[in-house]
Amino acid sequence: MKLNVKNIRYLGPDDWRVLTATEQGSRNHEVVPTPLISQLASIRSGSGVNKCISNLAKIGLIAKVKNAKYDGYRLTYGGLDYLALHSHTKASTVYSVGNQIGVGKESDIYVCASETGKQLVLKIHRLGRISFRTVKANRDYLRNRSSASWMYMSRLAAVKEFEFMKALRKEGFPVPEPVAQNRHTVVMGLIDAFPMRQISNVGDPASLYAELLSLIVRLAQYGLIHGDFNEFNILIEEKTNEETGKVTLIPTIIDFPQMVSIDHTNAEYYFDRDVACIKRFFERRFGFTSDEPGPSFNDSIKSITKRLDVEVEASGFSKKMAKELDAYMKEHGVDGDAGEIKRDDEDELDEGEEEDDDEQDEGEADTSTSPSNAHTLTSQMTILELRDND
Ligand code: ADP
Ligand code: MG
Repeated sequence: MKLNVKNIRYLGPDDWRVLTATEQGSRNHEVVPTPLISQLASIRSGSGVNKCISNLAKIGLIAKVKNAKYDGYRLTYGGLDYLALHSHTKASTVYSVGNQIGVGKESDIYVCASETGKQLVLKIHRLGRISFRTVKANRDYLRNRSSASWMYMSRLAAVKEFEFMKALRKEGFPVPEPVAQNRHTVVMGLIDAFPMRQISNVGDPASLYAELLSLIVRLAQYGLIHGDFNEFNILIEEKTNEETGKVTLIPTIIDFPQMVSIDHTNAEYYFDRDVACIKRFFERRFGFTSDEPGPSFNDSIKSITKRLDVEVEASGFSKKMAKELDAYMKEHGVDGDAGEIKRDDEDELDEGEEEDDDEQDEGEADTSTSPSNAHTLTSQMTILELRDND
């Protein structure tokens, strides 16, 4: 399900209308009947619609489905990607798209840029990617759910991520700058840093360890538990003081779709798991063990500063949406990177040779966001809009 933006510049207004019509129709149709697409697109000439349909089907944005009752089309992930990118372009948030810098189980991450050349990150949520892999699972799933559920769930994950990023950023938490959200995508600031997973040693592990644990505690004091607080989701920037030569490590926290409220039934479990993740990583990677026991959930929530969980619920991400996403994630075993199996084997890979390109291992992306290759990343950008002077 790679994002291929090459064709986006060549879609005409009628193609966009037909694509949008297919999206609209798929809200209440498993397979959108061709006449309904024509009707929703309100393009007068029937042949025009058919030409657009075959055009879109050829480049994989919609797919023909032969049904027992009728023939029609469904929107593909590619089609949804194009619709989201088109909206970002129209809103002038994204101008060009470049390399993929991460592949998660449930998302794809691309570097992109604004019109002014500001480097950004496009995160495309892909819930359902795992569950839709096998045909049988696919069919079972579709039988009792609406076809739009993968789109809907991916959108919920994007809305949730964006709303939490905004709330956390406002309170001064070290998270990327939230730029925009559309459908199943989030656009955010690019952090010029490596995931902690790729860092082999640090000068002063004790202070970084303390800082990360205090972030977990501070999150709880704002009503939240990250739920996937691990070496993949903590980006570490190295800043060298030019006068003293002292290196400071600045962490940024990413990846919020599995964030839980401190009121969650299993809040303490998630809190402890976040703490354990950091402890375990520092022990294994840096040989660092703290003398003190980690913070406890109950101590952490003794003094609450603010309830961001409640605030976010009141804004764009409602309780109903939270419940739906929660149920989906539970049903499909979406448990963030922390819940991944085979973690032990992965750790062994660190000392070994280059990793293979296991799709599920987002930490192994072959490009990084280091300053040295930032230029390479932007030089390979594909511009999304066909301009008059093109
Ligand atoms: P997933 O839900 O798939 O785990 P993440 O949000 O954790 O997605 O992103 C996966 C990877 O992409 C990260 O480990 C990191 O390497 C990279 N990444 C994500 N967001 C950013 C960002 N804003 N700046 C730089 N790199 C990022
Ligand atoms: Mg992640």
